[in-house]
Amino acid sequence: MQIITIPVTPFAQNCRIIACEHTRLAVVVDPGGDCEKITAKLTEHGLTLTAIWLTHGHLDHVGAAEQLRQQFNVNIIGPQQDEHFWFENLPMQAQMFGFAPVTAFYPDQWLAHGDEITVGELRFSVRHCPGHTPGHVVFYQSQQQCVIVGDVIFNGSIGRTDFPKGNSEQLIASINSQILTLPDNTRILAGHGSDTTVGHEKQTNPFISGRYG
Ligand SMILES: [Zn+2]
Repeated sequence: MQIITIPVTPFAQNCRIIACEHTRLAVVVDPGGDCEKITAKLTEHGLTLTAIWLTHGHLDHVGAAEQLRQQFNVNIIGPQQDEHFWFENLPMQAQMFGFAPVTAFYPDQWLAHGDEITVGELRFSVRHCPGHTPGHVVFYQSQQQCVIVGDVIFNGSIGRTDFPKGNSEQLIASINSQILTLPDNTRILAGHGSDTTVGHEKQTNPFISGRYG
């Protein structure tokens, strides 16, 4: 598995290209913007894009998805359907985040907890992790021990819950049941900031260690 990280948007959102090294097929996860940077990386590495996967509907994670869908004629897959209102409200999000105006679009396929999605020979399982947003999902690859978590958990922090339909208790419950139950050496690829591991966050993350209530 090849992982190419491309920081996009003024929020330095970690867009990831996930590629199967045997087939050279790839997906783009959370293309928040800077479409030309993403397409340049696909070309540079000789990869064929098969789909766009979204963890949630915040604009800094989805801003280039529609452009990529049209350019490559691929499907947008995910997140879970409770996220619908964030897509409906993409024009409002552009104002909220101070981004250029956008029009609403929708995924081709919503995901459900327990779904399996593939790129080439790589299989990821879908885990529903509401709290930051209601339809947030994460993508777990068990052989490579890696999980793409969007804005659920970060190195030393957790996702914001002060947006509409955010819920801090639900977020902590999602982290405890869906992330911290993974093996300690599982690599966490977060939507912002540096990579970390499940074990490291269990030991040091102040928001989940109970130190701050
Ligand atoms: Zn977010």
